[in-house]
Amino acid sequence: MFSKLLQTALNEGINKKIALQILQESYSPQNALQLFAAANSVRDKNLGKELYFTASIGGILPCKIVPRCRYCFYSVAEPFPLPDMLACVKKIEELGVKQVNLGGGSCLDGYDEEILSMVRAIRNISNLVIEINLGPSLSVETIKSLKALQVFSITSSLETINEELFRQAKPGDSLEKRKSILETCEEEGIPIRSMMMIGLGENYADRIEHLFYMKQFKNLYHLRFCRFKPFPRTVMRNRPRSSPWELARTIAVARLIMPKVNLGLGVGNHIDDIPLWYAAGGGNQVLGIMVTRRNENNSFEGEVSEVSRAFIHNQMPIISHYLGGMGISINL
Ligand code: SF4
Repeated sequence: MFSKLLQTALNEGINKKIALQILQESYSPQNALQLFAAANSVRDKNLGKELYFTASIGGILPCKIVPRCRYCFYSVAEPFPLPDMLACVKKIEELGVKQVNLGGGSCLDGYDEEILSMVRAIRNISNLVIEINLGPSLSVETIKSLKALQVFSITSSLETINEELFRQAKPGDSLEKRKSILETCEEEGIPIRSMMMIGLGENYADRIEHLFYMKQFKNLYHLRFCRFKPFPRTVMRNRPRSSPWELARTIAVARLIMPKVNLGLGVGNHIDDIPLWYAAGGGNQVLGIMVTRRNENNSFEGEVSEVSRAFIHNQMPIISHYLGGMGISINL
């Protein structure tokens, strides 16, 4: 009985076996709705119902991973010019958001000096909460220096914990290096952010293994879920798009495993995924502003303004409209 399984998870604790069974048996809407209700109550009890907006500046450095990950469509040829980035930081502040993530690309030889100079420059002009996502590009010393600069969190996304699948999808990348960044952040007491991709070719057992691997990190504060999307001109362009149903059920199981962790939406999701994400126990951060250097990413909705050769995609009004219709408030 599915309801008994959920009660066991809620009252006696969840282990890998129960989590796998819940994920497998929640394929039917009837069971999934029970799972979502349980995940909602866990989120409300541990994090509250309210959401808050964050911002992200993408493509701050070129990605030097060779060959490129087989699903990847992002690429910038040059670093984000610092004066332009600072102007975007000011614009994010003007819009009222208090937290910004600086993201991508990656370099296995390190982007240490590059990121430290950017963070110091932002610190000089802004009090925004800063998060960093440069994949496996940071040395232990740089992680310590970023902590000293009061960087709030560091992201190291594994996408999948299945080593063979990681090698197939990300042949130029290093799972070991990405794991070691998580371990360093844990040792140094820095909040950790990570991502898991749904639909890359993993099975349910891989997902559960991945969730329990992440759960061991006491400093894990935000886990984002990417939804595989076959972008044109990528090696994996013929693989089918991952279903939002798969993503939502995985988030709901993750909520039972990690009651206090922010569970967010990553690449491949659209704002139309937000209602189902919330209903499945997602929360409590929502990406409201995305800064890009090209204006050709049609996965964003809402207003676009140009600031110093960059594009500010402000999705906050439309997201607030969606959530308002669900009776949910969202803060800056
Ligand atoms: S590391 Fe990230 S940016 Fe670089 S190729 Fe892979 S997915 Fe793309």
